[in-house]
Amino acid sequence: MKYNSIIETIGDTPLIRLNKVNKGFKGEIYVKVEYFNPGNSMKDRMAIKMVEDAEKEGLLKPGGTIIEGTSGNTGMGLALVGIARGYKCIFTMADKQSKEKIDVLKAMGAEVIVCPTNVPADDPKSYYSVAKKLNKDIPNSFYPNQYDNLSNWKAHYETTGPEIWEDTEGKITHYAAGVGTGGSMCGAAKYLKEQNPKVISIGIDTYGSVFKKFKETGVFDENEIYPYLTEGIGEDILPKNVDFSLIDHFVKVTDKDAAVMTRRLSREEGLFVGWSCGAAVHGALEFAKENLKENDTMVIILPDHGTRYLGKVYNDDWMKDHGFLEYNTYGTARDIIS
Ligand code: PMP
Repeated sequence: MKYNSIIETIGDTPLIRLNKVNKGFKGEIYVKVEYFNPGNSMKDRMAIKMVEDAEKEGLLKPGGTIIEGTSGNTGMGLALVGIARGYKCIFTMADKQSKEKIDVLKAMGAEVIVCPTNVPADDPKSYYSVAKKLNKDIPNSFYPNQYDNLSNWKAHYETTGPEIWEDTEGKITHYAAGVGTGGSMCGAAKYLKEQNPKVISIGIDTYGSVFKKFKETGVFDENEIYPYLTEGIGEDILPKNVDFSLIDHFVKVTDKDAAVMTRRLSREEGLFVGWSCGAAVHGALEFAKENLKENDTMVIILPDHGTRYLGKVYNDDWMKDHGFLEYNTYGTARDIIS
C-alpha cells in the first residue's frame, strides 16, 4: 500500500482472538489492537477527526497552535496530525503519567507542560485549567478538549464501530472498552447498537472514579474520587462524550488486577499492550465469566502499546514496590494474582 502521509494509515486495526487468558470461558473473545495505529493508540482516530472538524468550522487556521490536556496518547495523535497539517502543538499533562509518554511527545516536536495530578479539575494548576488558560492567552490557538468535544465519539462512530461490525460479520454480541473521555466506548457502542440493538456494552472503570456509581444511582458522589494509578480510564468529572444510556454495565478494576492482566496479555497472548488494556480485559472477563454464552462474540478495545509502561507495569521492581509482585526464596519474580 502507498500513502500520501502518515495520517492516512490511521484505523483498520486488526481483531485478534484471545486464546489463553480466557481459558474455560464460553464464546469467542476478540481484542481490537489499537497500537497498530501510527501513533500506537486509538487516539489517532479522534485526533484527526477533531482537527478536521475544527478546520471545517474555522476554529483552526493555517499556522495555528493546538493546545490539549492529554495523558499522552491524544498528544501523540495530535502531534502526528499537527506535523502533517503544519500546526504547532502544546500539551499539558498530569505528573502521574509515565516519563516515556512525556518524552515521546517531546520527540515529536511538541512542547509539554507537566502539572500536578492530585488537584481538583477546577484548580488553576490542574492540567485542564492550564490548557484552557493557554488557549485564552495564545492567539490563533485551538483547544480540542477531548472530554467535551463531540468529534471524539463521532470518530469512533465512523471508524471503530463499523470496523468491528464488518470484522465480526455482524456477529458481535458484547462490546467492552475502558471509559476515560467516553469517546471510544460510546461512539462504537452507538454504531453497534444501531446495527443490532441487542449488542451489550460493558464500560470498564477504575476504583477512584465516579462513572459506575453515577450510572447505577444517578449520583455524582465525590467520595468515589481518590487517587489511583491506572492511566487513561476513570474520571473525577463527567465528560460530554460519556453517554450513560449507551453503556449497559460498568465493571470496576483495581490497579493491581489491571497490571497483572497487562503482563499476562504480553506473556500469554503476545500482545505487548498498555495498562488500561489489562484493565479492559480483566473487567470484560469478569463480566464474561457470568454472562457470555456458547455462541456469543465479545470484542474488547485495547487502546495502546506497552512501550509507554516499561518503567511501570513491565518493571518487576516497580510491581514489587506496589505490592503487585513477590520474589520467592530463589529470587524468582511471581505476579500476585488475586
Ligand atoms: N486507555 C488509554 C491508555 C487512554 O489514553 C484512554 C484515553 N483517555 C483510554 C483508555 C480511554 O478511552 P476514551 O477516552 O475513549 O474513553
